[in-house]
Amino acid sequence: MKEGLVIKSTGSWYTVKTNDGEIHNCRIKGRFRMEGIRTTNPIAVGDRVNFEEDKESKVIVSIHDRKNYIIRKSSNLSKHSQIIASNVDQAFLIVTVNYPLTTTTFIDRFLAAAEAYRIPVRLIFNKIDRYRPNDMDRLDELKGIYEKIGYKCYEISAKNGTHLDIIKDALKDNINLLSGHSGVGKSTLINAIQPGLDLKTGEISEAHSQGKHTTTFSEMFELDFGGYIIDTPGIRGFGTIDMEKEEMSHFFPEIFETSQECQFNNCSHIHEPKCAVKAAVEAGEISITRYESYLGMVMEDEDSKYRI
Ligand code: GDP
Ligand code: ZN
Repeated sequence: MKEGLVIKSTGSWYTVKTNDGEIHNCRIKGRFRMEGIRTTNPIAVGDRVNFEEDKESKVIVSIHDRKNYIIRKSSNLSKHSQIIASNVDQAFLIVTVNYPLTTTTFIDRFLAAAEAYRIPVRLIFNKIDRYRPNDMDRLDELKGIYEKIGYKCYEISAKNGTHLDIIKDALKDNINLLSGHSGVGKSTLINAIQPGLDLKTGEISEAHSQGKHTTTFSEMFELDFGGYIIDTPGIRGFGTIDMEKEEMSHFFPEIFETSQECQFNNCSHIHEPKCAVKAAVEAGEISITRYESYLGMVMEDEDSKYRI
């Protein structure tokens, strides 16, 4: 029996890379069941698996425990979910304060989803070569907000190559998810880091994610300096994620920490008296935009389903 990392899945074939670099195309044996979710594909990129080889074929026989996984519902009607990637070490959210604007609402929703998935996030502020003084002020302000809560921030220019060595160091030897609005420079960054890495993100991914056919295809690319970038059609973000409104504060670390001081332990931090969170917002200890993002998510109508 051999062990390896799944680096590509077509839904019926899985490409598995062993620690010593051998590549094997495997199928699945029988049915794998996953507790709690019904899934069309039990294995995804990032999974570590054991497989057996006989004369004719190679067959995956078991999946190692996952530290996390990203799932997406196959369609609105289906109860089946699709696992897009497993064992994601970290996500990078690429942000531009201008050209185009990334809103704090978007950043905060992404961060909350990542917290729910237990995936650490780092923020990359791109296009610093283009920023005017007021854009730089805004960038400093945002960095202040997010670094204070514990999210590491980088300032880069993918175009000019500024600070890309630091990004490479951070990506190295990890399974990485890169996200961000269209136009923030994701492709430019990836090309600058590793020319020739022909990722399928961008237009193709949008087309796939909106298509009628649910794709079970997923892939990740190896970086020549070590590590992987997940490149699965349709995952620029996390898709739809279930978060209970009552638990929302768990996904805003500074709000959760402060909430320990609230008078009521089920405080929603909206209208209760002696709410430590509201007091911290008023005192400027919790950023007003973070609090607004929290309120926006808690008060959303759609029954705890969030598109991120
Ligand atoms: P994606 O949609 O996130 O993949 O964005 P692209 O990589 O296609 O970049 C969108 C546009 O922003 C392109 O015109 C890039 O040349 C430009 N761009 C990307 N990075 C930078 C940067 O660091 N500085 C400047 N000035 N432009 C950039
Ligand atoms: Zn409260």
